[in-house]
Order: sequence, then structure tokens, then C-alpha cells
Amino acid sequence: MMFAALKTIPDLTLAENEPIARYTAARLGGPADALAIAHNTEALIQAAQWAQQAQIAWVVLGGGANVLVSDAGFRGLVIINHSKNFHLDSETGRVEADSGVTLTPLARRCMAQGLKGLEWAVSVPGTLGGAIVNNAGAHGGDMAHNLVQATLLDLNDLTTQIWPIDKMTYGYRYSALKGQRQRYLVLQGVLQLKPHHDPVELASIADGFVAHRKKTQPPGASLGSIFKNPPGDYAGRLIEASGLKGYQVGGVQVSPIHANFIVNLGNGTASDYYGLIQYVRQSVYEKTGVLLELEIERIGEGFAE
Ligand SMILES: Cc1cc2nc3c(=O)[nH]c(=O)nc-3n(C[C@H](O)[C@H](O)[C@H](O)COP(=O)(O)OP(=O)(O)OC[C@H]3O[C@@H](n4cnc5c(N)ncnc54)[C@H](O)[C@@H]3O)c2cc1C
Repeated sequence: MMFAALKTIPDLTLAENEPIARYTAARLGGPADALAIAHNTEALIQAAQWAQQAQIAWVVLGGGANVLVSDAGFRGLVIINHSKNFHLDSETGRVEADSGVTLTPLARRCMAQGLKGLEWAVSVPGTLGGAIVNNAGAHGGDMAHNLVQATLLDLNDLTTQIWPIDKMTYGYRYSALKGQRQRYLVLQGVLQLKPHHDPVELASIADGFVAHRKKTQPPGASLGSIFKNPPGDYAGRLIEASGLKGYQVGGVQVSPIHANFIVNLGNGTASDYYGLIQYVRQSVYEKTGVLLELEIERIGEGFAE
């Protein structure tokens, strides 16, 4: 009943008491009181504005590729961002895309148009919005090298703002938007790529990245890298050196292929997953003196500290 008003918003698909697991890459997470899929930017804005005005907790997810959602789920509204319009200019290299555009197909479309610069994103799961917030990156590239500006909605005063890249204060998997949930909604991003490159050459670079990933990273349900790499070292190397590669708790396992990945073997829970994260962090600290910092974010009630 509480969420009935959302049913009047066009292009919004609403489900109450909906398991969040199916909207996350780790396939983990209990129910949201309500979950709304926004099929365009207008629906995204209206859903967030409604929640803000009704003083209901809300969170927006793109691909759910960087979030661990608790087994208890989320008390409030989860908005899944499916806004997917984009425009590529193959003459200038300018790309304008909605924040819900999935990064992998966007990267492929850019390459096909001869636009160089987004090849690194070819196998990074999730949406443009998530990548802008987290400064996603791989293979030596990242959002900070592509983004020109982002259009944001500030839910505090309902103003639409254009943030030039400098305002993001990008760092390694960091932006000024991180930790600002329930305040800023990323609506659109503008990227500048290099035009007039050979699509076949670009595709072959991207295929090389995909092949490398297949060799070095596990398939299956995971959140990618759990921890940030500490300066001058690799989280995966430290975890492996601590003897934890392949270590399993319940239905989740430190990947035997890449120790900075934790895989849900199919019957895992978010509490197993987070328990294993804490165990790994503590063990690495005891064995190496390095306290690893989480790359992923936690969402929902009931995580033990
Ligand atoms: C197998 C695997 C491999 C991975 N490899 C890499 C890699 O190589 N490099 C890398 O950087 N990451 C990697 N990741 C992590 C993940 O792909 C990135 O962090 C990605 O950018 C997350 O995007 P998303 O849309 O899924 O964000 P989500 O997980 O849905 O959200 C992440 C955060 O961003 C916020 N957010 C999302 N959309 C918006 C929006 N429109 N407005 C405001 N806030 C928003 C969410 O509220 C949340 O706080 C990997 C993950 C997996 C599962």
C-alpha cells in the first residue's frame, strides 16, 4: 500500500517484497520492501524524488556488480536503473549516454564506430552510472580518462547539476560521489573518445582483454575484486600468500583462480560472503601487517561489524 503511488509513474515496473539477489552479480541479497525498475531517466528521477519526499530510504543499483546486499535485504525502495538511451558521434568521438547503459555493449558499439578509448570496459560488468561513481577501470584505462562531465540530480534540493570531471576528484576506485547514496543520482555521462580508428584493430585489443580475463578470473557469481590493491602491491597476491586461495566457508569460496575474488558457489548467503571477507581481511592483516580496504560496498540491514 505504502508504495502504491509509484504505480502511477510511467515506465516504472514495481514489485513489492522482491528478492534483490537476482539483480546483483553475486546473486545474493534478501528482499527489498519495494523494487522498481526504471526504464528511462524520467522514471528514475520520479522514483527517487517520490522516495525522498515520502522519507523512505532508497538506493539505486545499476548492474549490482559492486554491491553485497545483506540476507535481510533493504527496508525501503531499491531502484534498478534501466535508462538506456545513448548517442555516439563518430566524427567528434563524443558519446552521450544514460547512466543505465550497460558498459560492455557501449564499449563494443564505440569500437564498431571507430571510437578508441573504452576498450578497457569491454568486460567490466555494470552500468555507466556505477562506473562513474566508482571510477571503474581495467587494463590501464578507467572512467577518469574518458569522462568529460556527468549530469546529476541532487536530491537535497532537486536541482539538476552538470559536474565537469574535475569535480569528481577521481582516484583509484574513488570519486566524490562515493558514499553519497540518497543524495546524488547520476543521470547521464558524456565521454570523449578518439575518432577515426580501425574498428577491427579496436575489437582485437578488446578480445585480448576478454581472453586475459577468462584465463585469470573465475566465472560464476562474484563481485569482482573484493579489496582494493594496496599501494605497490596486489590484494590477490597478499591473500594467496596468506594461504587462503580456495578457502571455503559455507557456500562461498576464495577463488582458486584469483584470490581477490570470492565466488558464490550457488548456495551461499550474504552472511557467509561477508564472514569470509572479514576472515580474509583479518588473516591477511595477521600474516602480512596489511589491512586491506574494501572495494565493494555493502547494502541492507543486518551486517555484523
Ligand atoms: C566479474 C566482475 C568483474 C569486475 N571487474 C571489474 C574491473 O575490472 N574493474 C572495475 O573497476 N570493477 C570491476 N568490477 C566491479 C563492477 O563491475 C564495477 O564497480 C561497476 O562499475 C559497478 O557498476 P554497477 O552498475 O553494477 O554498480 P552497482 O553495483 O549497481 O552500484 C555501485 C554503487 O554505485 C551507485 N550507483 C549505481 N548507479 C548509480 C547512479 N545512476 N547514480 C548514483 N549512484 C549510482 C550504487 O548506489 C552503489 O552505491 C567487477 C565486477 C564483477 C562482478
